[in-house]
Amino acid sequence: MPVVIVENDTSQWEDETGAVYHFPKRYQNFLKQGAEVIYYKGRIKDKSFASERLSSDPHYFGTARIGKVYKDSQSSKGDLYALIEGYTRFEKAVPAKIDGRYLEEIPENRTSNYWRDGVRPISKNNYDLILGHAVLIIKNLETHHSVSNIDPLDFESKNEGSKTTYFGTRYERQKDLRLKAIAIHGLSCTACGFDFERVYGEYAKGFIHVHHIVPISSYGEDKAVDPETDLVTLCANCHAVVHRKREETLSIDQLKAMLKRQLASDYTPDEHL
Ligand SMILES: [Zn+2]
Ligand SMILES: [Zn+2]
Repeated sequence: MPVVIVENDTSQWEDETGAVYHFPKRYQNFLKQGAEVIYYKGRIKDKSFASERLSSDPHYFGTARIGKVYKDSQSSKGDLYALIEGYTRFEKAVPAKIDGRYLEEIPENRTSNYWRDGVRPISKNNYDLILGHAVLIIKNLETHHSVSNIDPLDFESKNEGSKTTYFGTRYERQKDLRLKAIAIHGLSCTACGFDFERVYGEYAKGFIHVHHIVPISSYGEDKAVDPETDLVTLCANCHAVVHRKREETLSIDQLKAMLKRQLASDYTPDEHL
């Protein structure tokens, strides 16, 4: 069954459109891997988001598919999150209502509270109807183009905000994988536990490097990157050490073993503070 998923302009989750979607446990039967979804936004509440939306009115703005679903370890209520695959944005907003009629059929027993739901299963007919009004912007993030010529270091935070380093499909693909890797592995260093926000405060919030465990050169032509198994989050120091020698990339276990050895000796990095 296709599903409409609501994205709020601001949310506690900091969801990333087209990459990661958080949701309460009660929706887990609707958001299973492989489910077709349509993205929806309700009426604008805060005008400052106007430029980030296709419309201020309630509207649909893209289509995608649910990828792997994970438990949100940060949540005490059993919330989940899904990786989003094949996100395709609409060129223009598809209004929730056209010619006075909603494109979503509202069940009779739900007329008073239907729009409150953040996740709404819809019929195939409704799904086709909404898509029928949409002009898709096909970016083709899905095609597993060769990644063999990507510099192993290009997953780093320098990509954040600077579209000059990488552009087009490759940039988007990288950004997408980066967001998924962070959702899965978190923002602290997998090897040493360093957390930029905890140490530097708000200014460094969200900063972390994303490292490819599998050396790029060993990838086949069509091997897609799995953010869960192929990527890991590292602090800038650990990442630099992993790539210290050109001919060899250390494994995370090797790195952890090194850290442990050094900690066992009497070196304390904070001594001079
Ligand atoms: Zn580290
Ligand atoms: Zn790396």
